[in-house]
Formats: sequence, structure tokens, C-alpha cells
Amino acid sequence: GYFETEDQARDAEVRAKARSQSRSRNAAVTVEDFRFGKTLGVGSYSTVKLATHLASARVFAIKVIDKGHLIAKKKQQTALAEKDVLKRLGAGHPGIVRMWYTFQDQWCLYFVLDLAKNGEMKILLNRMGSLSLECSRYYSAQLVDIIRYMHSKNVIHRDLKPENLLLDADFRIKLTDFGTGKVLDDDVDKANTWVGTAQYIAPELLSSKETSKATDFWALGCIIYQMISGRFAFQGLSEFLTFEKIKKLEYSFPDGFDESPKDLVQRLLVRDPSARLGVGPPGSEIDFDALTSHPFFASIVWEMLWTSQPPALE
Ligand code: ATP
Repeated sequence: GYFETEDQARDAEVRAKARSQSRSRNAAVTVEDFRFGKTLGVGSYSTVKLATHLASARVFAIKVIDKGHLIAKKKQQTALAEKDVLKRLGAGHPGIVRMWYTFQDQWCLYFVLDLAKNGEMKILLNRMGSLSLECSRYYSAQLVDIIRYMHSKNVIHRDLKPENLLLDADFRIKLTDFGTGKVLDDDVDKANTWVGTAQYIAPELLSSKETSKATDFWALGCIIYQMISGRFAFQGLSEFLTFEKIKKLEYSFPDGFDESPKDLVQRLLVRDPSARLGVGPPGSEIDFDALTSHPFFASIVWEMLWTSQPPALE
């Protein structure tokens, strides 16, 4: 036969088997590997569906993007940005939706994502009005921790808002929607034409279309204000009037707004991006300690933020 000895034949067989096993282990994941379930949400260019990975029985959220739609709506750049940014962030932080696989067929792109079982923070806020000080503190701290990680990877999100803060099975934050995310090559991104969501837009975007890491800090201030007070920091009767208020820093705290978060919000909602708490002049590293050591966070145990039990929702 082909082989000199039986041993050689057996060796060859073992090697062939190992090769084929490793091939199937590395084999590309396809749409056939999942059973699709209910629709979790519909975005401007995608539908997100519950899906079970058949071999492992693990449940994911799969973002299904129709290619025709993508082209018709000129959203190719958004989808690419989302994929690039999520790849770059990898599995590095428990508070960021992880992208496990991507694949495509003739019609669609598929992004296989961590499932955030409890949906959007926005819906929680709509339902509850506002959150207790304890909950607001916890979610603010999680958001600070996520931004710290993101910025360490040179990624800015640029569209932080309660809609994009998803909640996992334990009601911890999973940040999503990196379609407007940006990997910074430089400190400041000048050539951008993108505009985010009216109520959370930083003044520098309205005046000069410049974004930097400080842009995410503005949105953080808006979100902390909203969780505690149950209303937007900046809200006019129209988008235009909302922008006017942002430019003039026209907002006020309702009676009873606790002093320490008030101080924090006032240090974040500052017109000059470099004057926001922890930011500093262009070119300097963000000083996250200035944020994490703010009195509002005094009771937060940062090392346990993602493992300790979240406070009861109230
Ligand atoms: P848009 O561009 O309008 O922001 P999009 O097309 O980027 O939308 P997403 O906002 O990412 O789509 O997703 C659409 C909806 O699906 C979201 O509103 C959210 O409720 C739900 N969803 C998205 N990702 C997940 C996830 N990982 N787990 C659970 N639900 C999700």
C-alpha cells in the first residue's frame, strides 16, 4: 500500500483527523449555526434578533443588517465604524457589548453580540421617572468606568445616552451602538460631519464640529442629571431651541437635587471642553482619578463595580 508500515498508516490517520478537527473548530460561523427567535429591537438600519447558537445552546443578540437597506440609506460607514470599534474594544470590558462573530450572506450582514436581556436604560427611566440616588450613583460609576476603558483604547463614543445603555440579566450596563464611535488618531477629531442626539450634544459640536474625549464627558453630565431628576438637562420646544440652551449653558437644577451630584454635574457641564472635570488642556491625558475620587462616588468600591450585587431598582 501507500504506507511502509501499519504504524505509519495509523499516524497519518491520526494527523488527518486532528487536521479536520482543527478545521471544524476554526470553521467560519454562519447563519446556519443559529436558531433565530424574537425581534429584540429595530434600529434605523438593522433589526436585532434573539438567537441561540445551536452547538453551545448559548443565547446571543444578532444584529441583522440588510445590505440593500445599508446602501440605500448610505449607512455603510456606520456599520463599518461599529464593527471596527467593537473589534478594537474586544472582550476587554464587562460593561461593553462584545461582538463575538460577524458573518454575511448574499443579503445581510450579521453581528453576533452579547445579549442585554433587560433592554434600554431609557425604557427603565421612562417607566420609573427617575432613579434613586443610590441607583444613579451606581450607574454613573459604571458609565465612568466604561468611558475610562474606552478612552484608554482611544475610542470615543460620541452618542452616549440612556438609549444606548443596555442592561444585562443582572441589571448592569452594557454599552452599545458604536455606529458613531470613532477611533481617535489625534486628540481632536475635526473633520467630522456627524451630529448626535439633540439633548446630549456637547456645545463644541454645535460651534465647531470638533469632538474629543471631553465630548463623552458632557454626555455623562447630561445622563447623571437625567437619572437623578427624571428630566433632560437641556430641552427646548424644538431641536433648534435645545441647541440654543446648550450653547448658552441654560439649565437649572430642580429643588431637592442632592448637593454632591450637583457639584459633579456642574463640573462636567462646562462649555470649554478642556475645563471639564478630569479633562485638562489638549494633549494631556484624561485624569480619571479626578472623577472617581469625586465625593459623589465616595461609597463606590471601584474594584467590585462589576461583581457586586447592583442596588435594588427604585
Ligand atoms: P440606530 O442607528 O437607530 O441607533 P441601530 O440600527 O444601530 O439603531 P441598535 O440601536 O443597535 O440599532 O439596535 C436596535 C434595538 O435593538 C435597540 O433599540 C435595542 O433595544 C435592541 N438591541 C440592540 N442590541 C441589543 C443587545 N445586544 N441585546 C438586546 N437588545 C439589543
